Amino acid sequence: MAATAYGFIGLGNMGNPMCGHLCDAGLNVVCYDAAGTAERAPEGSETANSIEAMAVAADTIFLSLPDGPVVTQVAGEIAGVADRRATTIVDLSTTGPDAAVAVGVSLAAAGMVFIDAPVSGGRSGAVAATLALMCAGPDDAIADLDTAFNAIAGNVFQVGKKPGQAQAMKLLNNFLSATAMAATSEATLFGASHGLDMDTMLAVLNTSSGRSTATEDKFPKRIATGTFDAGFAAALMSKDVSLYRDQVARAGTPDSVADVVSGLWRGTREAFPDGDFTEIYRYLADN
Ligand code: NAD
Repeated sequence: MAATAYGFIGLGNMGNPMCGHLCDAGLNVVCYDAAGTAERAPEGSETANSIEAMAVAADTIFLSLPDGPVVTQVAGEIAGVADRRATTIVDLSTTGPDAAVAVGVSLAAAGMVFIDAPVSGGRSGAVAATLALMCAGPDDAIADLDTAFNAIAGNVFQVGKKPGQAQAMKLLNNFLSATAMAATSEATLFGASHGLDMDTMLAVLNTSSGRSTATEDKFPKRIATGTFDAGFAAALMSKDVSLYRDQVARAGTPDSVADVVSGLWRGTREAFPDGDFTEIYRYLADN
């Protein structure tokens, strides 16, 4: 049999660097995106013209799709292809634990393996292959993904054996990132009201206890520059924080901060429906 073929579904408007890294690692990669594949496909990849064609061409299919409903639909389509070659689906998207558990159950019923494997580190981390990848699934299937995971990510963590556990990890991480973005926006607007300039505030914060990825990365590179172009949509961050808020309610763990922060991101998404998530700064400045 030919060498393992990897599929990649969901290439994004700017192309998906993770898919490119799989090609650069010398893996056989076939890709597909509903919005048009050829113009988004990285050099060295092959293209499929449908999910069905992907399912018969690839053994292991990576997904990088907007949300849980899309992942559920695409995974179901793959599983339903009668003569499929695909045996494993690896979901790099952020979907929340409920969707991951449900997809895992329905793929297991179809005799397929599901690996829940969201990533963190933004577009810059994806380009540099320094992402954190957190995964949950069977040990042997995760071991088989070693080369692919290390091509995509700088740090790979198996956080559990059950789909949904990596999503829980990803949501709590993004909640902290989202909170730092909101709090840093408010704090620097307060500082500006006292005549402090942004560069000075960031220089102090980044050698003080208030630092975070917001102060070290997003604010100096994307907000102070006025470019608002981190490459992660406000709508996607709002989705992640809402998912976190819902899961916290279900778990019955403390939710005071989640309640406030999810409202701020909902407001940002409504004010900037197609905007980058760094727009939370302009949203809070205007409200
Ligand atoms: P994106 O919207 O830029 O890309 C998603 C792609 O999926 C689009 O090209 C779209 O055409 C395609 N697509 C949608 N439905 C499809 C379908 N049914 N079949 C085939 N293709 C379909 O999103 P993104 O920013 O690349 O994010 C993808 C996922 O990764 C999301 O779950 C997001 O939360 C997560 N994520 C993104 C980042 C980031 O910095 N962009 C970081 C971490 C996690």
